[in-house]
Amino acid sequence: MAKLRFSALEELLNRETKPSKEPRIPTSEYFGELVFDRPKMKKYLSKEAFDHVIEAIEKGTRIDRRMADQIALGMKAWAMEKGATHYTHWFHPLTDGTAEKHDAFLTFGEFGSMVESFSGSLLVQQEPDASSFPSGGIRNTFEARGYTAWDVSSPAFIVGSTLCIPTIFVSYTGHALDYKFPLLKALNAVDKAATAVCQYFDKNVTRVISNLGWEQEYFLVDEALFNARPDLVLTGRTLMGHSSAKDQQLDDHYFGSIPERVIAFMEDFEKEAYRLGVPVKTRHNEVAPNQFEVAPIFEEANLANDHNQMVMDLMKRVARRHKFRVLFHEKPFKGINGSGKHSNWSLSTNTGVNLLSPGKNPKTNLQFLTFLVNVLKAVYDNQDILLASIMTASNSHRLGANEAPPSILSVFLGSQISAMLDDLETRVPDKKMTPDEKTALKLDIGKIPEILLDNTDRNRTSPFAFTGNRFEYRAVGSSANCASALIVLNTAVANQLKVFKKEVDALIEKGVKKDEAIFQIIKEYIKASKKIRFDGDGYSQEWVEEARRRGLVNVSNVPDALKAYTTDKAKKLFTENGVFTEVELEARTEVELEKFVKKIQIEARVLGDLALNHIVPTGVRYMNTLIDNVQGLKDVFGEKDDFHELAADRIDLIKKISYHIQNIKNKTHDMVEARKVANKIEDMKEKAEAYDQKVRPYLDDIRYHIDKLELTVDNSIWPLPKYRELLFAR
Ligand code: ADP
Ligand code: MG
Repeated sequence: MAKLRFSALEELLNRETKPSKEPRIPTSEYFGELVFDRPKMKKYLSKEAFDHVIEAIEKGTRIDRRMADQIALGMKAWAMEKGATHYTHWFHPLTDGTAEKHDAFLTFGEFGSMVESFSGSLLVQQEPDASSFPSGGIRNTFEARGYTAWDVSSPAFIVGSTLCIPTIFVSYTGHALDYKFPLLKALNAVDKAATAVCQYFDKNVTRVISNLGWEQEYFLVDEALFNARPDLVLTGRTLMGHSSAKDQQLDDHYFGSIPERVIAFMEDFEKEAYRLGVPVKTRHNEVAPNQFEVAPIFEEANLANDHNQMVMDLMKRVARRHKFRVLFHEKPFKGINGSGKHSNWSLSTNTGVNLLSPGKNPKTNLQFLTFLVNVLKAVYDNQDILLASIMTASNSHRLGANEAPPSILSVFLGSQISAMLDDLETRVPDKKMTPDEKTALKLDIGKIPEILLDNTDRNRTSPFAFTGNRFEYRAVGSSANCASALIVLNTAVANQLKVFKKEVDALIEKGVKKDEAIFQIIKEYIKASKKIRFDGDGYSQEWVEEARRRGLVNVSNVPDALKAYTTDKAKKLFTENGVFTEVELEARTEVELEKFVKKIQIEARVLGDLALNHIVPTGVRYMNTLIDNVQGLKDVFGEKDDFHELAADRIDLIKKISYHIQNIKNKTHDMVEARKVANKIEDMKEKAEAYDQKVRPYLDDIRYHIDKLELTVDNSIWPLPKYRELLFAR
């Protein structure tokens, strides 16, 4: 194995940058060329078919069969011109990543000839043999088939020779088996609820759009080194490795100049992203060595999320061309920053107003405050479910660790907005406002500057921060499908807005003026959600204690966090807003628990294997060298005092190595036993708990001894690439 490490290091020395071969032409000239977007629909579809699709996209109407045939024909013609020979229904199963099964357009025509065909029914709906996708028991194997159905709101695109049609994935019983279906339902719920609230301020609003701008963080590792680390290959993270003498202490990587080989990789995947219509905008180095970020211009949430999944897939493929591997794991390396996927979220209207952006006058600012405060209340009331939506085996390593949000939800508003809310709380009287009071209040509200001046105190330690015109949900993990968090966030906000509307209407019914009714309810919400507001250092120990005093939820383990999905509160929230049924909630929890168990199980197996077959033999080998040396000293000096003095440090070392080896062996044995016990448990919740509490601790325990050995054993025989090599090679 040490041979593999050194040949990898040698390979790395000879690595050359592979500059992008693509011609340098303005991006706008080829942006979206592989997407069946509106201009292409216009060109390839009849007017009737075009209008039909647009109506379906904008109003959610159904595509009828006859039209579907026409659309399929146009889509096929376009795709074939672009060289596509296959098509696939592309969906987001509950595993990581996306799924696709390709079918050729090719079919038998007349007189034994071959023709390309693609019908409306194939476009609209398919039945992939999906029995191996997780369903949490919804789909019994005897009715294993689920079906995929076209999501018209996200345009078809071409990857390689395949036309990809974004779809939802449901069981025969109609239950969602993916991320997209519930996301679409949640977006619909928030649209309805927010549009209704907007009517207080502007009757022209007929639709509210939820936006997402994701910031994808990732690590790059050289391919040769990656392949010499079975733990990275099989689990996506390093299960062992002593920290490098230098890592991120000097902050010399963040925003530094991007290494040439990395730039070449970035340029290549960005170009492919542009062809696929993904508006990637920002690229830079992140805090940890070999850590980077890519972010697009924000888009409608469902499309943005499809784009994120597409880009993750692209990055994995393009990285290989540059002899890199991209790591999306939230914590691939111990002791340095992990990777997140900050999810910037806002609501905007069909009239072009960002509802989370301060307006120009008292009326638009009251609208802004209405939405802001309702979000606060929604987050406060649903902190547990929001945490559940982002808690996974891998993200739980990141939350609460180096430079990452803790597993407590709080909202940062900044001093100006905070002061504004405090002011409202004291100034809105419980009784009827006098005309003077009302005028003064409205005037002051009108003074919120359009661009918030104190953007400078943007708090980087808050898991959910208001950043002037949007909320930034920072606790989302880098490997996540953003939909998981967005489903909960949008549903919670939708629900909150519905309640708000009801309460305001009730006051108006009683004769309270509209503005005043809004003020009064907002005031109640400001009071009720106060505990979720925190502008201080979210990474500090004091905050953990303060949060406990405030009674905020703090869970960092997956099995506990997931309980939030099946409480009475959660069931009511999701069913009343038409996002999940109770069956779906139970199933989803089951799937998440199972994923957690499997991940820990794999990590434990890989570590056990590496510990016993790579590390222990290496330790023994080095120990034998030392023993030979001691024996030699003894031969030369005999049992005289000189010998004891000369051999003392080596004898000491032999004892130390022996101690670590024994521990590694014993603990690995105990870990296997703990796994056997856990594996016998039928109930998935209990099994996950057993894996979390009884198996998982061994991973750290065993690692401790391995890392100590790494420091002790001769470098020339250490089998696995070290942190300094993985993190600084580029
Ligand atoms: P920073 O690192 O300072 O947070 P970035 O430029 O890396 O900023 O990312 C900000 C992300 O937020 C981008 O994707 C951007 O398009 C997105 N964004 C900006 N305004 C909004 C908005 N109103 N709603 C949603 N996302 C937004
Ligand atoms: Mg950000």
